[in-house]
Amino acid sequence: MTPKKYVRIWGNWKMNLTGPETDQFFDSLTALKFESRAELDAGLFVPTLQLERALARGMKLGVNIGAQNAHWEKSGAFTGETSGPQLLDVKIRHVLIGHSERRQFFGETEETAARRAISLLDQGFHVLFCIGENRTEREANQTLQVLEKQLMPLLALKGKGLDPARFGIAYEPVWAIGTGLSATPEQAEETHAWIRSWLDKTFGASTSALSLLYGGSVTPQNLGALLKKPNINGALVGGASLKPDSFLSLCQIALS
Ligand code: PEP
Repeated sequence: MTPKKYVRIWGNWKMNLTGPETDQFFDSLTALKFESRAELDAGLFVPTLQLERALARGMKLGVNIGAQNAHWEKSGAFTGETSGPQLLDVKIRHVLIGHSERRQFFGETEETAARRAISLLDQGFHVLFCIGENRTEREANQTLQVLEKQLMPLLALKGKGLDPARFGIAYEPVWAIGTGLSATPEQAEETHAWIRSWLDKTFGASTSALSLLYGGSVTPQNLGALLKKPNINGALVGGASLKPDSFLSLCQIALS
């Protein structure tokens, strides 16, 4: 279990906010006197076009900025993709990989998601890797099999181990994303505990320092109860990260 004194709150802006809206977000966060603290890893995965602008503003406040996806190859004929070296060029070092919307709408598979994660870790990135079951899978009691299938290709990392400083997992049940139906703290904790024990067993070493974030309709109203659970080390937040006041509240709750 990761010590609770280090909590991670990451927003996922998805395909939202223009450049001026990004500026407004950071203007408001500054006016609200957002303060970073050593015990908090606060960050935002923003659209590719806003990365540089958000990084310039986020750095002043101590908010990390990451990309929402990146390719496993360093360059080549992959229209519409972004490479690791291109992100490093604009000083981006955090990447979200395998979000369920990539899997659902853009053909991301277990293999391609893991391939991205493995290559980006090799290139020195911090990777937050998303897994999660959909409603039908949960109702059919297949949650753990689905998660295992999504985690399995990461076994290629076995020789290198999972560096807790640069690798984290976001458990995001698909039925909870953007629906207002968050998993209960008990449901999330049960699954997080299983993920940690699967990683410990599979990698043959303790992954107690590795952060496991919960995602799916997290709000300032439900975050506190989720974070009380021992294996929930933070949250990946969509909708509630788009508003500066709720992003600030989430960070304050994480620190309380
Ligand atoms: C997400 O996009 O990863 C997410 C969890 O969204 P929301 O918080 O809006 O459910």
